[in-house]
Amino acid sequence: MDDRPATLEKDLQATHVGESAQQQRARKMRFTHPSGSRPLEGYTIKRGIGVGGFGEVYFALSDAGKEVALKRIQRNLDVELRGVRQCLNLKHVNLISLWDIRTSDTGESWVVMEYVPGDSLRDVIERHPQGLPQDELRLWFDSIAAGVTYLHDRGIVHRDLKPGNIFRDDDEQVIKIGDYGLSKFISCSNRDGQTESVGTFHYMAPEIGKGVYGKEIDVYAMGIILFEMLTGRVPFEGESSQEIIMKHLTADPDLSGLCDPWLSVIRKSLAKDPERRFPAVPEMMAALNGHVPLPQVADSRPAAEVPPIQPMFIGEQAQYVGDDEIRFGELREVVDAKITSNPHSSQVPRPAVQVLSTHDNAPSEPIARAVHGGWQKTTDWWATANLTTPVKILILTGLGILLLVNIAWLLPVSMGLGLLYLIYFTIRSLMTPSPEKSRQPRVTRAEKISRLRQGLARKPVSDRITESIGTLVVSSIVCIVLGFFTLMATNETGLNQSQQWAFYTWSVVTAIVATWTLVIINKTWEHRKGDAIVRRFVMLSAGVAIGLAAFFTAQFLHLNWLSQAAHYEDLQLSPFAPDTFLTGNAPTMLGFILFFSGLFLVHRWWRHADPIRRTRLSIWGVGLCLVWGILIGQVFHFPMPWSGVLAVMISIATQMASPWLTREQRAELQHHPRTA
Ligand code: ATP
Ligand code: MG
Repeated sequence: MDDRPATLEKDLQATHVGESAQQQRARKMRFTHPSGSRPLEGYTIKRGIGVGGFGEVYFALSDAGKEVALKRIQRNLDVELRGVRQCLNLKHVNLISLWDIRTSDTGESWVVMEYVPGDSLRDVIERHPQGLPQDELRLWFDSIAAGVTYLHDRGIVHRDLKPGNIFRDDDEQVIKIGDYGLSKFISCSNRDGQTESVGTFHYMAPEIGKGVYGKEIDVYAMGIILFEMLTGRVPFEGESSQEIIMKHLTADPDLSGLCDPWLSVIRKSLAKDPERRFPAVPEMMAALNGHVPLPQVADSRPAAEVPPIQPMFIGEQAQYVGDDEIRFGELREVVDAKITSNPHSSQVPRPAVQVLSTHDNAPSEPIARAVHGGWQKTTDWWATANLTTPVKILILTGLGILLLVNIAWLLPVSMGLGLLYLIYFTIRSLMTPSPEKSRQPRVTRAEKISRLRQGLARKPVSDRITESIGTLVVSSIVCIVLGFFTLMATNETGLNQSQQWAFYTWSVVTAIVATWTLVIINKTWEHRKGDAIVRRFVMLSAGVAIGLAAFFTAQFLHLNWLSQAAHYEDLQLSPFAPDTFLTGNAPTMLGFILFFSGLFLVHRWWRHADPIRRTRLSIWGVGLCLVWGILIGQVFHFPMPWSGVLAVMISIATQMASPWLTREQRAELQHHPRTA
């Protein structure tokens, strides 16, 4: 009777049509031994299957017609073959059988093993980027648990558990784990780095670097595999081995999309301290089996009936007998600890994949590139500088005041330079052909952002409400504090004290109203990328409302605009006559509305409130708001310095108060350019 789950059946059919993923990959590789050759007496090579960290793997037929997989061991023969020998007589339905170790006439060493036709778990996960269906997930995980427990009971730690080493045998319809025995003795420096991929490090427990480890490293790897089967991705991603190792050592996994029992089982399995993990697989499975699981991953298929997992016995423990030494039952091996605990050690292999530069999307034009590079350095410094938030605000305010004081000459000079650059850029673009842009990093980043947004969409309503209340409170405090800075900066403007306070109150109230409007609107947008045109329209409407609120507050407080106007000169950039928008020196209702709607229409304010933004407080963003505020203020004769001051206050308050990515999420995105 065929009792395979329906989804599994579908997958099997998919792989039977045409080639399997494995065969497709193998077709692109070059192998030393061609089809029909007999590099090892008694076996004829049929085709190459793949190349891993140890060497090539072939599908071959014995002279009697038995199908086998032949693995040619190319490096560190002694260590690797010693590991295989211990495993030659292991028999378990969930382990790939190792049949023999042979040396050819030419001195090549070969491991003869059971050939498993079918996909690896890696292929299956790739086909389910949103996570595996429940029934299939349980089938894989239960089988892995059974196979690993069998190994542990015989004193063998797998040490290289990963989806690429776990297969589904389509003929027998069972899951089988491979590469045990070999992998126990892997050390990174045993490999030459040529074939090492960052994928190798995704499943490595933090203590592997110390060279002292036991069953808990397999528990850790199973925790990662479980997470990956549920979500379609590994919890610690990175562009280089160093980055991934660092995350395994220090970062907390983001488990926000999961619910119990997955959540608690994965959290415990991924504890940094091995003693805080499940001591072995049966305990892990018992914890998993204690509940009826319902994963809350992006894929919201209904959960199928889950058969209970039989609790398994706890086998003989591996013993630590000192630094770099570990005792497994009767075996006593000195573990070759080549990775040091320091991830920056020279012994950590060089990454096979280049770290993506943060300047990947730098413009090709040399002047723009230089400016972009300088700007990136400054913002990187700003993001990582050891400055407290008040100091940062102080610096920004100082810069803002400096800019305001010098605006009279800065504005025309920068406009002149901008115009010159525009002419140069247009001519250059016409004369140089545009190079093909590499798309790969963008796609990767876009995928990561989309996953983060999916996570935001799943945030419970209660969390959203608490977060919003916090945001409103913080934004009000920031506005009140910034108002004080403005009060001090405008001390010299000839206003009497009561008028100064009136202006203070007006600016703070206006900034708070604007900031609240922005954060409330953006709260409803945070989980989608959104359409910029629709957003601008909403921002325009918000600007009208904020303009009205600012106008009525000014009326209520009887602000005296006269002395302000005398102190700050009009730069005379506007095509409109001043009395179009001013009565006396006070802006009219139309002036208010046009200024605020202009202010909110052009700048992409939602970026300030986006939780997936590059820095908590972007100076670039604040600077843009300042310049734009002054410019639009000049066009509609909105009095200085308030046009710039309000834009800056709203910008800083929105960014400071809006929620931001967690440390772990930031680390995941840090090698990419700014938010799309
Ligand atoms: P690692 O060296 O870390 O295990 P790897 O798993 O990618 O890395 P290999 O184990 O050498 O590399 O395997 C190379 C290829 O051969 C893989 O594509 C794997 O799917 C396939 N393969 C390995 N053993 C078997 C087997 N017994 N039956 C069928 N395919 C196999
Ligand atoms: Mg392998």
